[in-house]
Amino acid sequence: MPELPEVEVTRRSFADRIAGAQVLAARLGKPLRWPLGCDLQALAGRQVLGVRRRGKYLLVDLDRGLLLVHLGMSGSLSFTPEAPAAGVHDHFDLFTTQGVLRLNDPRRFGAVVHATGEDDPVAVKLLGRLGVEPLGPDFDPQVFHAGLRRRHAPIKQVLLAGDLVVGVGNIYASEALFLAGIRPTTRASRISLARATLLHAAVKDVLARAVEKGGSTLRDFSNAWGEEGYFQLEAMVYDRAGEPCRVCGRAVRRLVQGQRATYYCPGCQA
Ligand SMILES: [Zn+2]
Repeated sequence: MPELPEVEVTRRSFADRIAGAQVLAARLGKPLRWPLGCDLQALAGRQVLGVRRRGKYLLVDLDRGLLLVHLGMSGSLSFTPEAPAAGVHDHFDLFTTQGVLRLNDPRRFGAVVHATGEDDPVAVKLLGRLGVEPLGPDFDPQVFHAGLRRRHAPIKQVLLAGDLVVGVGNIYASEALFLAGIRPTTRASRISLARATLLHAAVKDVLARAVEKGGSTLRDFSNAWGEEGYFQLEAMVYDRAGEPCRVCGRAVRRLVQGQRATYYCPGCQA
């Protein structure tokens, strides 16, 4: 599943190239998770101002309105000077004067949704409850700690929920908790400011490293994700159950929280 780093690297892969382009036409394939919400013809003639990211949404800003793009479980975007004929999994094309933006999405949990602005109810519904951006200036250790104090669920699940800080997916949550030395089952409200500060830094670190790693593969990025759907970081604990911890040598453990697998080291995480 594309996570925040993949979405950010996707954004960087085409944002500069599409900025300033004029939309010539658009094409829809099979239905996606949500309807486009406007006539395809209404997009023609609009200008692309730029591309932003909010959580796992890409916001393609137009001179009138914007397109919210989500990659769902299996989506990938390409932006090429000319697109070959649409394949069976190509469900959205935006033809512009500078190239063709194409969404390929075999499982069709992704979506392209038109909004008149960020105050459009459809945009508010999709973006309104997202937490702060982990790589942005608003992600502050003290505010993060105050948010944790109000949440009594296990820290791993609080990270995944995305309403406190957005985009910390399953892999990155496990890895960040390892780096911070915090057990995934610890109640969020019991984490001290000192430990919350460590976790804050760890979240930024794992995500920034993943973006950096993805950035180094940007040249060949147009053609989708790796096998596992995330950048292959040297995982400390994720998917390493039974293998020795890279720090202390004890066997990494696996448990299930909220139907998601969690990995941790019983020696390094208290
Ligand atoms: Zn360990």
